Amino acid sequence: MAIDFEIPAEAKAIREKVRQWVHDECIPAEKKLIAGADYKPLLGELRKKARAQGLWCPFIPKKHGGMGLGPLANALVQMELGESYLGALSMNTQGPDDATMLTLLEHGTEFQKEKFLKPLLNGEKRICYSMTEKAAGADATGMQTRAEKSGNDKYMLNGEKWFSSAASVADIALVMAKTDPGAPRHQQFSTFLVELPNPGYRIKRNIPTMALEGPLSHILGGGHAEIEIKDLEVPAENLLGGEGGGFSMGQHRLAYGRLRHGMHNVAMAQRALDMAVGHITKRTTFGKKLDERQAVQFMLADCASELYIARLMLLHIAYKAERGLDLRQENGIAKVFLAHMVHKVVDTAIQLHGALGYSRDTPLAAWYTHIRSQRLVDGPDEVHRWTTGRNVIKAFKAHGTTASAAGGDLL
Ligand SMILES: Cc1cc2nc3c(=O)[nH]c(=O)nc-3n(C[C@H](O)[C@H](O)[C@H](O)COP(=O)(O)OP(=O)(O)OC[C@H]3O[C@@H](n4cnc5c(N)ncnc54)[C@H](O)[C@@H]3O)c2cc1C
Repeated sequence: MAIDFEIPAEAKAIREKVRQWVHDECIPAEKKLIAGADYKPLLGELRKKARAQGLWCPFIPKKHGGMGLGPLANALVQMELGESYLGALSMNTQGPDDATMLTLLEHGTEFQKEKFLKPLLNGEKRICYSMTEKAAGADATGMQTRAEKSGNDKYMLNGEKWFSSAASVADIALVMAKTDPGAPRHQQFSTFLVELPNPGYRIKRNIPTMALEGPLSHILGGGHAEIEIKDLEVPAENLLGGEGGGFSMGQHRLAYGRLRHGMHNVAMAQRALDMAVGHITKRTTFGKKLDERQAVQFMLADCASELYIARLMLLHIAYKAERGLDLRQENGIAKVFLAHMVHKVVDTAIQLHGALGYSRDTPLAAWYTHIRSQRLVDGPDEVHRWTTGRNVIKAFKAHGTTASAAGGDLL
């Protein structure tokens, strides 16, 4: 049989364990935080418990202290973690740290793994990623920050960055800068590991955004920082992946991150739909329960379809990843779809809650304002759709049909 949707027993078991973990530990801890509990000791205790149960860094190989899950089991786990703000954090698999751990594992020197990766894997430190600048985002090759060799053992960086998520809670920054303006476009940039705090890497502010900020926003997400980089000295041994390798490493990193956001979106959308149904089964208008109204049932049907497609996409991508197949086209399609999917489902849940949905008495309003960013981060919709569309044309020219670029390459 070519495709089998039976989930292996171990993957099912771990998914169930994580589901229980999120419901029994993370969601109650989230409530304690909102009620005023101190974040650091609470997260420390939660992480200790998670680790004791073997719930730690899901996709990191066992020899590095992780769970060593493959793409399918990891996808199933991530699809549960997104239900709580503390889900991913409790298992040390939060962005932007998680994708950067992968980059360090793949491209780090022994020195870098010992000094920078180990404390990240242990949950002792956090890392942020500084690529985007006011000067350039979607087309990152427009970055202006310069890194110039200073003697044999140092680089000097000058420029600016913005929207570096979690920079204000990070102990390390991964900074991209132009090392060779004369090289081909994608080989001009390199990546540097920068220890924080650092006088050369000055956080000017956390940029106010449209996202509703609750008591947890800054401590959990750490905001999105605008940064001045001025005479920032970086030892040459902190150059990650060699000169000119910054861009290809960044893309590798983002490819994973894109999928992780989408996986968390499934959990959030599922929780929103459950909340919506929980509400309409109790609410009566014009003498009839809302759940008896066909118009309302249609709305639920649309949400269920969105979630179903989302799950199938992620399972298909996990299947391809398990087999080492090329999944770039599916990744780009799913990135865009999953960002819109969560928006539609949360929006419907708000609608069905009425004014309560618009209020801040449920998490829906805050979710709504946070997820808008997903159509921008890790490449805006249009850039992914541009690549996807080009691949559709390429497939037609190569095979006389677009099927292979439209999810049909396994047929
Ligand atoms: C919440 C949040 C968190 C972020 N976190 C980080 C982080 O941790 N580290 C980091 O380095 N960056 C981060 N970013 C930056 C993010 O990656 C960029 O915002 C994104 O790549 C878009 O770049 P830009 O904002 O400069 O938009 P621009 O590049 O100016 O593009 C503006 C708009 O133009 C359109 N557009 C662009 N190119 C094309 C095209 N070829 N065809 C058609 N339309 C196009 C799109 O609609 C796009 O939204 C974050 C952003 C947000 C909102």
